Amino acid sequence: MKDKEIEKLIKLEKKRQRGVINLIASENYVSRDVLEVLGSELTNKYAEGYPAHRYYGGNIYSDKIENLAKGRALKLFKLSSKKWAVNVQAHSGSPANLAVYLGLVPLGGTIMGMSLTDGGHLTHGYKVSATGKFWKAIQYGVDPKTERIDYERLKDLAKREKPNIIVAGFTAYPRLVDYKKFREIADASGAYLMVDMSHTAGLVAGGVIPSPFLYADVVTTTTHKTLRGPRSALIFSRIDERELYKKIDRAVFPGLQGGPHLNQIAAVATMLKEDMSPAYKKYAKQVITNAKVLAEELKRLGWRIVSGGTDTHLALVDTWMGGNGISGKEASDKLEKAGIIVNKNTIPGETRSPMDPSGIRIGTAAETTRGKKEKDMIKIAQKIDKILRG
Ligand SMILES: *Cc1c(COP(=O)(O)O)cnc(C)c1O
Repeated sequence: MKDKEIEKLIKLEKKRQRGVINLIASENYVSRDVLEVLGSELTNKYAEGYPAHRYYGGNIYSDKIENLAKGRALKLFKLSSKKWAVNVQAHSGSPANLAVYLGLVPLGGTIMGMSLTDGGHLTHGYKVSATGKFWKAIQYGVDPKTERIDYERLKDLAKREKPNIIVAGFTAYPRLVDYKKFREIADASGAYLMVDMSHTAGLVAGGVIPSPFLYADVVTTTTHKTLRGPRSALIFSRIDERELYKKIDRAVFPGLQGGPHLNQIAAVATMLKEDMSPAYKKYAKQVITNAKVLAEELKRLGWRIVSGGTDTHLALVDTWMGGNGISGKEASDKLEKAGIIVNKNTIPGETRSPMDPSGIRIGTAAETTRGKKEKDMIKIAQKIDKILRG
């Protein structure tokens, strides 16, 4: 590489990645193939528009690549192309969510999503996000006692506020989601049901947690978390007389974006193929097993786990424990010094600030890719305990 400065920084980052224990729930390690595709000549090409409807010449292969990615996306999630459409052009998770709202919710309309402090995402209507500025946002939370979604309260809130869209999807919620209940609530309040499975899509693909496709109108997901692909996003929509896919396609391009990132789309296609393998199914299962073991061992060592445990790839540890422990920031700083990377996180009923909250979020997607098993999780939990108490 001629650019020695960047080359050196990439080398250092690679070394950093290899040297740490990575418990960031939203990260993963992609394959050599995915890296190769991302770094290919596809990055040179403009392909504004959609397959067979491009605004530039020279797109014979772009069309094949985009169609391949779409076909594989439907296949991975066992969807029929007669019933589901998929858009593969959103540059990442946040623009994907924005595109759905732009396509389906009139400006000034109402979005209902989980609050950030209880485990929702910025793009579910948080006030500093565009999604909380262009639309009215109603936020739901978890039950303070069980720390699980309170479907009864959600239903009352939805009936009263009549949102245009209800978002079921989370960045820091360790439990399974009852999509059937969400469907009933959406129907009772006349809302679209959007599932944002950014965090858990890989577990759905691996068949180890229930799929939301039976109940949702729209499903969005990032591709770089449990799915283990490049940074990108997929937007699935149910095909029926409402023609949601047309509105969503128009919202992505030309509503929000210009040219698609063809190298990214091709890398997503490569990832989708990898995720269809038996080895990936085994991986997805191990991710959950590892998370359960990690959370259980921390619990055994005296740490409070939000909601008492996990059904997925992530857990929230209440490190503050009402003042008897240490703050989330202090915990994550201490762990980083010792080579364990986590992120500080708010917990339900947060009493501190988002910059220095009461807990940390830990996930097992990345370390499971590196081959870690149950016995390693026990060691990691014991190391975490020692560092936090030291
Ligand atoms: C990560 C995430 C996003 C946003 O993805 P970016 O690619 O970071 O923009 C959206 N929704 C949920 C639930 C997420 O976890």
